[in-house]
Amino acid sequence: MTDRSAIRYRIRPKSPEAHLYEVSVTVEDPDPLGQRFALPAWIPGSYLIREYARHFVTVRAASRGREVRIEKLDKHTWRAERCDGALTVTAEVYAWDPSVRGAHLDTSHGFFNGACVFLRCVGREHEPCDVEILPPRGGRYRAWRVATALPRKDAPPYGFGLYVAADYDELIDHPVETGTFSMVSFKARGVPHDIAITGRHDADLARLARDVKRVCETQIDFFGGHAPMDRYVFLVTAVGEGYGGLEHRASTALLTGRDALPHAGSRETADAYRGFLGLVSHEYFHTWNVKRIKPAAFTPYDLGRENYTSLLWAFEGFTSYYDDLLLVRAGLMDEAAFLRIWGESLTRILRGAGRLKQSVAESSFDAWIKFYRQDENAPNAVVNYYAKGAAVGLALDLLIRQKTRGRRSLDDVMRLLWERYGRTGEGVPEEGVERAAEEIAGAKLTRFFAQAVHGTEDLPLARLLRTVGVKLTLRPADSLDDGGGRPSRKSAAALASRVTLGVRTFAEGPDVKIVNVLDGGPAQAAGVSAGDLLIAVDGLRVSAKSLEARLERMRPGQRVRLHLFRRDELHELEAELAAPPVDTCVLEVDPGLKGRTRARRAWLAGR
Ligand code: ZN
Repeated sequence: MTDRSAIRYRIRPKSPEAHLYEVSVTVEDPDPLGQRFALPAWIPGSYLIREYARHFVTVRAASRGREVRIEKLDKHTWRAERCDGALTVTAEVYAWDPSVRGAHLDTSHGFFNGACVFLRCVGREHEPCDVEILPPRGGRYRAWRVATALPRKDAPPYGFGLYVAADYDELIDHPVETGTFSMVSFKARGVPHDIAITGRHDADLARLARDVKRVCETQIDFFGGHAPMDRYVFLVTAVGEGYGGLEHRASTALLTGRDALPHAGSRETADAYRGFLGLVSHEYFHTWNVKRIKPAAFTPYDLGRENYTSLLWAFEGFTSYYDDLLLVRAGLMDEAAFLRIWGESLTRILRGAGRLKQSVAESSFDAWIKFYRQDENAPNAVVNYYAKGAAVGLALDLLIRQKTRGRRSLDDVMRLLWERYGRTGEGVPEEGVERAAEEIAGAKLTRFFAQAVHGTEDLPLARLLRTVGVKLTLRPADSLDDGGGRPSRKSAAALASRVTLGVRTFAEGPDVKIVNVLDGGPAQAAGVSAGDLLIAVDGLRVSAKSLEARLERMRPGQRVRLHLFRRDELHELEAELAAPPVDTCVLEVDPGLKGRTRARRAWLAGR
């Protein structure tokens, strides 16, 4: 007898052409009353019920070479009839979801998250399990390798074979890439890191490794100098267009546009590459903040249903605050770019009236039905707990620095959370982040949290940014694609005489599709609806290209006739154009506040 686990998984691409995995689980000593198996309804890190069981095409059970009856108890739970020997349940799983939270298989590669493919043996979640990862059959797959942070048992490095997990929670927390990915490796503070890239690309791997290593070391140092994992894997999929990531305890799955990766010979840091490094920084910071410092509501995860916490503003928001700030500290982003990106981010927050109706605590709690299921009314009803949560982080950091005369900061709060909850594995209670911040600040912050986290008032950022010598100014947008962050060349008078319709649009071919109708704007008052196709303004055809030029010639208060198709019916509406909202934000170093330069440098450098 070898040291085989009593629970053994096996996964093999059965038919890459048909996107089918064959996945089995064998239980040595199944429940004599009938072993139950369940598949997660969601994947930790992505707060939406996804019902992965809908991709299970067939499910069969067998014991000692004989078929065993297996029945379905609910949408994602099965029970096999009692049997005397080892029980094996085998499923065919359809895998054609290219996102970081799914499973994907074709003749070029395979990627899966355990939550999508591995059945949980109900009642045996805490036992260790073996996982045999097999290649597809056939010579054409001979060059395939394996990239995953799953610990190896007898599999060779990067090879197919036997892997192992300490329990089901770990099993589904190490996504697996198989194929002919390119790879570059480095050590960060002594810990081996791999970057595996799937998809066609021409990235400068040496530069990528150098820059990502700086991000990792900056973060390991931030949390005290010792990485909490013994290796780490970045699973990157490069595509034409795409952006996203999902965090895990010792790896992350990232989706990026291939052109965001630095190409050989380029030395400058393009905005797109900075965006990719920001994604790397974000997911890596989660290694601490949410994978180890976890809300009590996630300890343990209940994978069968929604897990409610009002703390995502801290787990996603603070992670978003630190992703770019730590790029500055790693020397990968300068002060000007950092302030520009903050101007853009604050602009996005100000342009959603949802911030006036929903607090970030409420948005966290309702992530399952609102933030993750946004519809055309989302800008009016939902606040983004990433963006506003990051702004709460910024405000809190500056407030603590001010209250303690620069002796303490949000960095200390994060380190306290790490010591108290991350290292111990104890869940963070719902009020735990606020209490930790008050301990570090040495003062009650009741009013701050009541406004910033539980209320809907705008944050006092203009005042707080002055403490580090940064001036926050607001102005109207100077064009339809003005996302803020930069001063405008237009005069204040010219900006104020521009008009707004109060819509967000999308170019559908040459036509103007109304995507969102913003609260309180002229379009809403006139009866324009999301989904309408705007075809003419004042009797003249408009296109996605010409709309802006038409509006440029108009003035606030002017009445215009709009022709729109709603489904196949033509509507004629009259709208009164409004002056543009003052919702575009710019952050700049204030030359009049030279005395605050030291405070700003300390903030950006993490002192
Ligand atoms: Zn995140």
